[in-house]
Amino acid sequence: MNIWHPYTHSTLDPAPIPIVRAEGIYLYTADGRRLIDAISSWWVTLHGHAHPRIAAAIAEQAQRLEQVIYAGFTHEKAEELAAGLAEVIPASLSHLFFSDDGSTAVEVALKMAVQFWRNRGEDRKARLIALEHAYHGDTVGAMSVGDDSDFTAAFGHLLFPVDRVHSATCFRCPVGKTRATCSVECADSLEALLDRRAGETAAVIVEPLLQGAGGMIVHPLEFLRKIRDLTRRYDVLLIADEVLTGFGRCGRMFACDVAEIEPDLMCLSKGLTGGFLPLGATLCTARVHEAFCRPDRRHTFFHGHSYTANPIACAAALANLKIFREEPVFDRIAAIAQTHQERLPHFATHPAVFDVRTIGTIAAIELKADDAGYLSSLRPHLYDFFISKGVLLRPLGNVVYVLPPYAIRLEELGYVYDVIEEALAAVDQRVFA
Ligand code: PLP
Repeated sequence: MNIWHPYTHSTLDPAPIPIVRAEGIYLYTADGRRLIDAISSWWVTLHGHAHPRIAAAIAEQAQRLEQVIYAGFTHEKAEELAAGLAEVIPASLSHLFFSDDGSTAVEVALKMAVQFWRNRGEDRKARLIALEHAYHGDTVGAMSVGDDSDFTAAFGHLLFPVDRVHSATCFRCPVGKTRATCSVECADSLEALLDRRAGETAAVIVEPLLQGAGGMIVHPLEFLRKIRDLTRRYDVLLIADEVLTGFGRCGRMFACDVAEIEPDLMCLSKGLTGGFLPLGATLCTARVHEAFCRPDRRHTFFHGHSYTANPIACAAALANLKIFREEPVFDRIAAIAQTHQERLPHFATHPAVFDVRTIGTIAAIELKADDAGYLSSLRPHLYDFFISKGVLLRPLGNVVYVLPPYAIRLEELGYVYDVIEEALAAVDQRVFA
């Protein structure tokens, strides 16, 4: 049987690299090399690989209760996890629905938002609004709210219609302003749309403050705040997809905390288990939940995955929360953020660079490219170069980004930046052309 790898062209891309072990920020290859995982293995690994406390929690739980149907049954770890999350989640998000991964956390949020209005007898409020450059996962509903891209091109006819509004791409302002003088007029397209269509709209979905796969696009706080104000004013639900941004990536526990807003629904995954096991969670307000509590059984939320609230994944997530409580995680986050702020300005003036951006533990360097975009010809050259230097960096086309596990030490992060600097010199001298 031949294995088919995600996002990998079977003839154009190099063979997958066998990894035999991982620890902290390092991946160890079968042929004896060591790679710095500078992208947290697709934004998943949180504190570091094989963190002993999470590994121990998993081992213990696997011997006690490995799986149980989550309809009509519950278990201690799910209950404890709900209580633990209540301590860190915005207070108004009082209800939690478990699923398997980021895409399913998003699917749940979309379905919940649409059924919320239907259960209240407002069937017309069934459309969804999403941002340009959005990415919310690879399942069909998540792709529908994702922007049109090379990822979705083959499936356009399968996707449901979504209204699309401007993102805050300050480096290429969609309304021709400059950040220094603008008042986030890019959000006006949402206002105009809601003005016409709020009566048909269930929800707006956003990746709060940072659009990941769309190019590591950092939004001003005011943009998210304005979206929150508008969705309140027009009585449309706001879904914050924190699958990437959650658990400290943006400097506080959630991106919504950074902007000091509370959404109506929030999607979590990836870092939820410290990046050890798949688990999704969709949180919502009591108002949303209440619409599903009517006596009519047709108001039930008919959605469930086999591994909903898997006890081993919940045990990993609990250990993750404990690490946040007991280790200086936010000091580590602050140190990473400071390094980004110190190193990035130097890149901003580099002749090969179009834009630099950062928020919290994430930094992005967008390179100039004639074929800018996910399929940029620069990407495979850069990727191979980084691997040859012992660093896993996986550019999004011509956007190189750094998103390390929190265990990274400053000298290791410094090395990652040195390698990027070398790569930029090669780009500048057209070595990769
Ligand atoms: N939402 C966002 C913002 C993401 O970045 C991703 C994955 O990168 C997803 C959803 C999908 O998560 P998963 O790959 O676990 O399905």
